[in-house]
Amino acid sequence: MSRSLSRLDELRSRLDEINLQLLNLMSKRGAIVKEIGEIKKKQGVQKFDPVREREMLDQLVKHNTGPFDDETIRHLFKQIFKASLELQQDDHKKTLLVSRKDHPQDTVVMIGDVPVGNHRKAVVAGPCSVESEEQVRKVAESLKRQGLRLLRGGAFKPRTSPYDFQGLGEEGLRILRRVADEFGLKVVSEIVNPADIEMAVKYVDVIQIGARNMQNFELLKAAGSVRTPVFLKRGMSATVEELLFAAEYIVSRGNRQVILCERGIRTYEKWTRNTLDISAVPLLKQESHLPVFVDISHATGRRDILLPVAKAALAAGADGIMVEVHPEPAVALSDAHQQIDIPQFEKLISDLRQSGLLSESQDPASVASSGK
Ligand code: PEP
Ligand code: MN
Repeated sequence: MSRSLSRLDELRSRLDEINLQLLNLMSKRGAIVKEIGEIKKKQGVQKFDPVREREMLDQLVKHNTGPFDDETIRHLFKQIFKASLELQQDDHKKTLLVSRKDHPQDTVVMIGDVPVGNHRKAVVAGPCSVESEEQVRKVAESLKRQGLRLLRGGAFKPRTSPYDFQGLGEEGLRILRRVADEFGLKVVSEIVNPADIEMAVKYVDVIQIGARNMQNFELLKAAGSVRTPVFLKRGMSATVEELLFAAEYIVSRGNRQVILCERGIRTYEKWTRNTLDISAVPLLKQESHLPVFVDISHATGRRDILLPVAKAALAAGADGIMVEVHPEPAVALSDAHQQIDIPQFEKLISDLRQSGLLSESQDPASVASSGK
C-alpha cells in the first residue's frame, strides 16, 4: 500500500515536471511564432499557411509512436497551431477606439446640455412615427412634465413592407424640431440614407441608426463624418461584436459621440417581438466605454411587461432606456401594438423612479446633485 502510494507520488511529480517542460517549450514555440509573424507582416505575407500546417501535422503523425493515436495528435497540435496563429494576429479589441482597453473611463455623450452615459439613467421616449404636430406635442408635454429631455420620433421609417407608412420625411423632422424647441427637449430621429445626414443635422440632436441599417456601412461612415451624436441600434441578427465594429465605423471617422442600443434579437420565441439579450448590456459596458441603452418597446413588442424589462435593463447597467409613446396607440400608423399611451408612460416612469433605478429629473442641475 505505502509502496504503491510512493510510486504514485513519484509519477505525479514526474508529470508535474513534464507539464512545466511542455509549458516552457510552448513559450519558446510562441516566441518563435511571434517573430515569424513580424517577418510575415513586413513581407505582407498571409499569416495562415495551410500547406505548411499540413506538412507539420504529417511529420508529427509520422513520428508518433503512441500511446496517443494519430487523430489525437493531430487534434492536439491543431489546437497549438490555432493558438499560435492568434498570437500572430493583431488583437483588434485592444486597438478598437470603442474599446475600454485604451479608454477605461466611460464616455459621456453630450446631447446639447443633456449628459448621457457614465451610469446617468436617461429616457428617450416618443412615438414610433411622427404623424402630426399635435401628436408629437402631446408626448412632448408629458416628457416636460416629468423632467425628461429626450424626444424620439421616426420621420424616415424603414418599414418591412413597402406598402406601410414610410414616414413624413423632412417635414417630420421639422415638426420634431419645432415641438422640441417649444418644450426645451432634444430630438432623436432615425436617418436611413447617407445622403440625408447633412440635411438631418439641421433638425436633430441625435441621429438614430436603426437595426435594419446597423451594417449599412456608407450610412455609418456618413454619420461618422458629422459631430452630431449617434444612437446606434443592434441589428436583429447581429452579434455584440458586430455592433461594436459598426460603432467603430462611426468613431474611426472622428465622431466619438456614439450611444449603443440593445433592442432585442431574432430568435424562435414568438411571445415577444424580439428576444431582449440582457447579457449584451453588461458585455457592452465591459468591452466599451460608450453609453448603452435598451429599447424596451422593440425588444418586447408588447406593453404588459415593459416595467420589469425596463428594471432589468437599468439594473443590468444600462445608461438609459428607449420607449415608444403615442397619445392614441390604437390608431398609430406604425407599431400600434407596442406603443403605450401617456398615462401608461407616466406610470412607467413613476414606478421606475420609485424603484430607485431612475433619478427624478434629467435636468443637468439635478443630475449633478443626485450623483450617479
Ligand atoms: C425605431 O426605433 O423606430 C425602430 C425602427 O427600431 P429598430 O431599428 O430597433 O427596429
Ligand atoms: Mn417602432
